[in-house]
Formats: sequence, structure tokens, C-alpha cells
Amino acid sequence: MREDIEHILIQESEIRSRLAALAAEIERDLPVGPVLVVIVMKGGLVFAVDLLRHMNRAVELECIQVSSYHGGTESSGKVDLVDRELPSVRGKHVLLLDDIWDTGRTVEVLSDHMRRAGAASLRAAVLLAKKKTRDVATPVEYVGFEIGDEFVVGCGLDYRGLYRNLPYIGVLKAGVYT
Ligand code: 5GP
Ligand code: MG
Repeated sequence: MREDIEHILIQESEIRSRLAALAAEIERDLPVGPVLVVIVMKGGLVFAVDLLRHMNRAVELECIQVSSYHGGTESSGKVDLVDRELPSVRGKHVLLLDDIWDTGRTVEVLSDHMRRAGAASLRAAVLLAKKKTRDVATPVEYVGFEIGDEFVVGCGLDYRGLYRNLPYIGVLKAGVYT
């Protein structure tokens, strides 16, 4: 797998220590009591597992499956909810976890939905945020790392369904795409 990677952007050790700090920050901000963690599948899975191990709080877990890339390396711009039924969030403090904040549409669409569905509060955390301008209203409160506007894999992020298990964030060799 390493032979497909052009270079490593963020090392496993950096990710580990950053997530411990991020979890502590989230803990300090969250209202007292249980939290409903909603993981955006499949990309948010690895980040969520690593982050949640550091959280010292009773959490309830739900997953939502969405799709916006359809196998390519650029967002289609349309966020499809794969699940027809979304978790019940009424009256709950929700923490939404996703792999990366790119166009911002995924977080926007899911946040709108959960606000309308009566969430008591809503915060979002992502492992990565691309440095770019976004035409969305919904912010992401917690960002692990800010990166440039390029396509990355690892720690949950895939290319055509592969590379999610890489323990670091990397950029693929051009040859992999052709
Ligand atoms: P959005 O554009 O809605 O903020 O992000 C949508 C989704 O696109 C992310 O959750 C992630 O699954 C995918 N995505 C965005 N940028 C990248 C990237 O650089 N690499 C990979 N593998 N997926 C990405
Ligand atoms: Mg995603």
C-alpha cells in the first residue's frame, strides 16, 4: 500500500497526539450529560474510533451513510443520504463526526436535517479541513488539521473504496489514478 503513496502529509504519531487534545477540547465545551455522536460513514469511522477513545463521557453512537464523491477525486456537489431513516436526535446534544471538511455540503445538509429534527445542540468535528472558501452557512467547530486543497487518503479517507486503513494521511501517486 505504501508504494501507492506519493508522500505522507500527516504522520500517525501527529494524528494520535492531536486527537487527544481535540477530544479534551470537545469535552470541555459539551454540555453536561450524555452526548449523541453521529458518525458520517464510511469516511468518519476511523477518526471517530480514534477520537472517542479519548473521550471520558457517556456517549450514544449512531452512523449515517452519505455519498458525494461517487468514486472520483472531486465532490459531485450533491450529497446523497444513503440511509432512508436517520437517527432520532430530538432533545439530544449531537456531535457530528466526519473525515474531512471540503465543500462543506455534507456537514451543512446533515446539520440542517438534525436541527429540523429537534437536536438540542449540534457541533461538528472533522479530522481534516481543506483550506478554501466555502459557500455554506454551517461552521465546523473542531478541526484536527488544516490541509491544502488536494486529494488525500488514509485514516478513513478512500480512493475508490481503498486506503481507508492507512494509519497516516497521504497523497496518492498520479499513476494510481490512471
Ligand atoms: P464535503 O465536500 O461535503 O465537505 O465533503 C464530502 C466528502 O467528500 C467528505 O466527507 C469525504 O468523504 C469526501 N472528500 C472530500 N475531500 C476528500 C479528499 O481529499 N479525499 C477523500 N478520500 N475524500 C474526500
Ligand atoms: Mg464522507
